Amino acid sequence: MASGNLKIDLNAIARNWRALDAMSAGDVETAAVVKADAYGLGIGPVAKILAKAGAHTFFVATAEEGAAARVALGNDAIINVFSGHMAGDTTTIRDFHLMPMVNSIEQLTRHLENLPSFQFGIQLDSGMNRLGMEPHEWSAVASLALSSDPTLIMSHLACADDPAHPQNADQLSQFRAITAGLDVPLSLAATGGTLLGPAFHFSMTRPGVGLYGGFPYSDAQAVVRLSLPVIQTREVAVGETVGYSASWRAERPSKIATLSAGYADGITRALSNAAILYAGDTPCPLAGRVSMDLLTVDVSHLDQMPSHLDLLCPAQTVDQVAELGGTIGYEILTSLGHRYERQYLGQE
Ligand SMILES: *Cc1c(COP(=O)(O)O)cnc(C)c1O
Repeated sequence: MASGNLKIDLNAIARNWRALDAMSAGDVETAAVVKADAYGLGIGPVAKILAKAGAHTFFVATAEEGAAARVALGNDAIINVFSGHMAGDTTTIRDFHLMPMVNSIEQLTRHLENLPSFQFGIQLDSGMNRLGMEPHEWSAVASLALSSDPTLIMSHLACADDPAHPQNADQLSQFRAITAGLDVPLSLAATGGTLLGPAFHFSMTRPGVGLYGGFPYSDAQAVVRLSLPVIQTREVAVGETVGYSASWRAERPSKIATLSAGYADGITRALSNAAILYAGDTPCPLAGRVSMDLLTVDVSHLDQMPSHLDLLCPAQTVDQVAELGGTIGYEILTSLGHRYERQYLGQE
């Protein structure tokens, strides 16, 4: 079989959730962010293992993702939708019992008109300028919104992956100011904010990437292993080139392995001549461009040709691959392709 093999360790996801949960006081709820198909790892199995680990509240980006989460989780879980209540979302929100985090006066109005008996949360902007009501919008509708007993008031930090960034404290005091005196559960922290400490935890933390083994949660357990089969190996003479645009040229007699996976599987072209593949613990550099379905790797220094090489493994995390490709671990995870044979470890 020429498909790459993607192993997803569900027990590691559960352990990461429990470890992040243990960072906040007992009365702080730890939710789980499972947007973008659980960061590319599969909403069904991932949401189920998180519920089993103890998560009760889940966050998704869109109502459609919320429907998929509801199918996976059954009726008990609370499923919050970051994008709020968009035009066209009403039926999905109603049928799948989703909780929109309304982020504008327009959305609040839409929700109260279309689903007056359905609960909702509120998103306020505390300085990121991406989603949420601005303070002046909030003061215009706060009493109306509060009279419907919102389940949560949340905001999001722009710089939480950098503990030294002054915007963390700025957003914290802004969030405190706009929610002062309100008797509503509050949430500010994603993974980065959770690590910033108790002042950022409020009633609920919302980790995502840390559950899946990514920065900034550096103590996370690795969740994914990606192994790519070797289709063919060849000898390349000095001066010969490898791959599109002849961007790699042999400086010594070389052995090249051709692996089955490429940019169509989420291995970004920015990794051309930069990625490292692993034969066990032995690093092997990518030789030439990333093709759509193929990678060419310099394996001259290997005594024995393995059946596969690993791109993600204990020796190389998603964040290390991201660094080589000039991106972030989140993007590597959410780009993981759909041609891989996916194997879930630790599932009942
Ligand atoms: C994606 C997201 C999260 C989770 O962020 P991580 O950095 O992955 O932990 C939390 N809150 C909001 C609003 C988000 O968009």
